[in-house]
Amino acid sequence: MTDKMHFQAEVSKLLDIVVNSLYSDKQIFLRELVSNASDACDKLRYLAITNQEIGKEAGELKIRITPDDKEMTLTISDNGIGMNKDDLVNHLGTIAKSGTADFLKNAKDNGSVVDLIGQFGVGFYSAFMVADKVEVLTKKAGEDKAYLWTSNGVEGFDVVEAKKDKNGTDIKLFLKEGEKNYVDTIFLRHIIRTYSDHINYPIILNLGEAGEETINTASALWARHKSEITEEQYKEFYRHISKNFDDPWMTLHFKAEGNIEYTGLVYIPSTQPYDLFQPDRKQGLKLYVNKVFISDKVDELIPHYMRFVKGVIDSSDLPLNISREMLQSSPLIAKIRQGAVSRILKELKNRSKNYDDYKIFWSAFGTAFKEGIYEDFANREEIAELSRFYSTGEPDKLTSFDGYISRIKGDGKNIYYITGDDVNVLINNPQLEAFMSKGIEVLLMVDPIDEFWTQTLPQYKGYNIKHISQASEDLSIERKDKKADAGSLDKLIKFLTDLFKDEVSKVETTEKLTKSPASMTVEQGQMSIHLERLMKGHQQQVAYASSRIFEINPYHPLIIKLADMTADKKNADKITEVAKIILDQAKIAEGEPIKDPSFFSEKLSEYILKAI
Ligand code: ADP
Ligand code: MG
Repeated sequence: MTDKMHFQAEVSKLLDIVVNSLYSDKQIFLRELVSNASDACDKLRYLAITNQEIGKEAGELKIRITPDDKEMTLTISDNGIGMNKDDLVNHLGTIAKSGTADFLKNAKDNGSVVDLIGQFGVGFYSAFMVADKVEVLTKKAGEDKAYLWTSNGVEGFDVVEAKKDKNGTDIKLFLKEGEKNYVDTIFLRHIIRTYSDHINYPIILNLGEAGEETINTASALWARHKSEITEEQYKEFYRHISKNFDDPWMTLHFKAEGNIEYTGLVYIPSTQPYDLFQPDRKQGLKLYVNKVFISDKVDELIPHYMRFVKGVIDSSDLPLNISREMLQSSPLIAKIRQGAVSRILKELKNRSKNYDDYKIFWSAFGTAFKEGIYEDFANREEIAELSRFYSTGEPDKLTSFDGYISRIKGDGKNIYYITGDDVNVLINNPQLEAFMSKGIEVLLMVDPIDEFWTQTLPQYKGYNIKHISQASEDLSIERKDKKADAGSLDKLIKFLTDLFKDEVSKVETTEKLTKSPASMTVEQGQMSIHLERLMKGHQQQVAYASSRIFEINPYHPLIIKLADMTADKKNADKITEVAKIILDQAKIAEGEPIKDPSFFSEKLSEYILKAI
């Protein structure tokens, strides 16, 4: 009985992009299929340890590549875990990752196929770059039934029961008209050597009457000595393990000896994956015990804020038959994590000395990495040291806390920051005027996460980290300019307090503004306006909205004028109108929405017209 099934909409889209792209590196399909075969062997080897039945059945694990120049097919076979019917339907017909649909839409609109291939590794579906029909004959280890999956890569696929003696999978590609060179053994040998030399299992090329040939070294790359590994091999292994197509930004190969022995080969990619902030994103390290794959789901192996790190940890000190549940609470795993984290931090510190180089890392992963400041208490100081920010000092360059400290004038003990959505908006915030005119640098924090870690890191190397609204220093500036008359200013404040009683809790004069007539702020110790906005954006209940203070600048000609106008009751309407516009301006500078945009723009046009 045949089951005809449709691809999930995302898969159809993906196939459409992949198949119709003019992507020149089509040969990567072979690497993807070999990579899958290797994963399947890894899974079987682990199962064989815990399941005796399967252990007995499993022979020597191998990957076999068979070209057929009569049929014009290429078959990639493995004797790994295999798939049952559910696996076939779930793995070769759907994409489960969240955010896929959005990503695909984007990739299609922008036509960035390389990016797409990079993000997904494309994997199995890349077979359709060279084949117009693919057959997957497979039998899952420990199960009786075998299945044949067939598809032309367009609308769907068929699954039928089939005959196969041993567990494992044969993937047969019916090559497209223009792709016949994939039956050429010399060509095949060349691409397998290029892409798949690091694969753990023997890759055997079937030469027909001429016999067969093992093409790769077939030993775990991380277990080899550094001096025996070329940069190219490190890169290829990275692509295999990370399923990425970029070059690694960092490659770290280390061996820990002493109480516990383990080897790590870990990488940091050079580009941000599309799902770095998806809640279901998993950590990227695979755990091996004595070169036997155990699991890629041991979350405890690396902290969440380093979820972009990819690679392998292999320890011979863990028991081979350790269950995945036991791994989670294993003190050995915790030690390995500590060791790996401190090596990564140390290497980041080295690399941070080169500004341009480090910026690549920071732009891709800084936002996630900063989560470590509150997540990893033991290393928070180091993580803070490695963090970078925009600043009023040099707005187009990133700076560090240490850089900031080195520029503090006099005996200042505070590191000031302001939070917002965008550097270019923030830098014009009126709240910064006093700091600017006194030559005090302010860090411009624009990642949502900044609102949170700053709450948990009150100090850095003895310096207080403070939001500018909590400034304690006397920020008033010495003034020689004309100030509004005290009596009229009092009247104006009373007037405004009454006018805006539903919008702000207080109207005050401030000595902190130089250019703007007014600005919005909150009481000391209250949630910043930006944080409040963020929480509302996330549908969070904000039980106590911070009370707003409307600060007016008594030196500004507009405020002086308004104050003078309070002398005559007839001016009330005019003052109201102008004050509303000033309040709106202050809100806009804070990134806050204004109450009545049409009033604002109408009035603005009216006043401009009067002026020109
Ligand atoms: P990925 O390798 O990133 O998971 P792929 O598209 O390459 O994505 O493969 C999808 C899934 O199909 C794999 O995760 C695996 O479950 C299954 N699969 C593919 N090839 C094989 C194979 N040779 N043996 C067993 N399962 C396989
Ligand atoms: Mg794959």
